[in-house]
Amino acid sequence: MLQALDQDRFASVDRVEAPRATREQLLRVHTPEHVERILATTPDADTIRLDEDTLMSQASAEAGLRAAGALVAAVDAVMSGSATRAFCAVRPPGHHATPDTAMGFCLFNNVAVGAAHALAAHGLKRVAIADFDVHHGNGTQDIFQREPRVLFISSHQQPLYPGTGSPEEQGVGNIVNAPLSSGEGSDEFRALWNEALLPKLHAFKPQLVLVSAGFDAHQRDPLANLQLQTEDYAWITERLVDLARAHASGRLVSTLEGGYDLQALAASVGAHVSALMD
Ligand SMILES: [Zn+2]
Repeated sequence: MLQALDQDRFASVDRVEAPRATREQLLRVHTPEHVERILATTPDADTIRLDEDTLMSQASAEAGLRAAGALVAAVDAVMSGSATRAFCAVRPPGHHATPDTAMGFCLFNNVAVGAAHALAAHGLKRVAIADFDVHHGNGTQDIFQREPRVLFISSHQQPLYPGTGSPEEQGVGNIVNAPLSSGEGSDEFRALWNEALLPKLHAFKPQLVLVSAGFDAHQRDPLANLQLQTEDYAWITERLVDLARAHASGRLVSTLEGGYDLQALAASVGAHVSALMD
């Protein structure tokens, strides 16, 4: 995936090494017990299994800290004006991590750490999180379901892991869940965002747009059954850039979530980052 960003067309992109998130930044969205448990889990040799899907190796705690820290640094960069848009090419992903539980490959909820930082450190009143990963961002929903300053909008396949994300889950009116069915593809995805989700995002007038960019709704992805094409990721990215330009002085921070077919992931990230550069 990183090799995909080594092509000449990305030569003008500034690359910054992600700093570690601080405890204070993590504690805005996670319990102290969760943070301590992840940081204390440093297996000597092999890997440790936190649940059926979520493993930690020696390097995982450090990678998790830097994945969350990337969001903080990117939010600071777009808020200070040193950048307008940023893509955090991080793993582990984050959107399944709840306040107190690592799950679904996720240790810390990176996008939530970024949103909470925008509220706490920059005083924003309206932060939107658009999540087009094929799985529902249950952790992000959990963290912000009583926080009206954050609008969380998700399209995802249902039924599918983790089983949440029905339209009835609305938080305090700040959660919008839009399921797609197995086998659906470009037409249904674009219609859903055009007719239902993008209008809600525009009505919210976000001061900052965050994106949970998972690429596992791609037709080639082995973990799910939607049929998106690489061009669909350019399309949704252009729409979200337009949203940021309309309300947020262009400020947009995207972070990598899922994507498990490496060929589709490389092509889709390339399309996404190209659209962010335009
Ligand atoms: Zn996913």
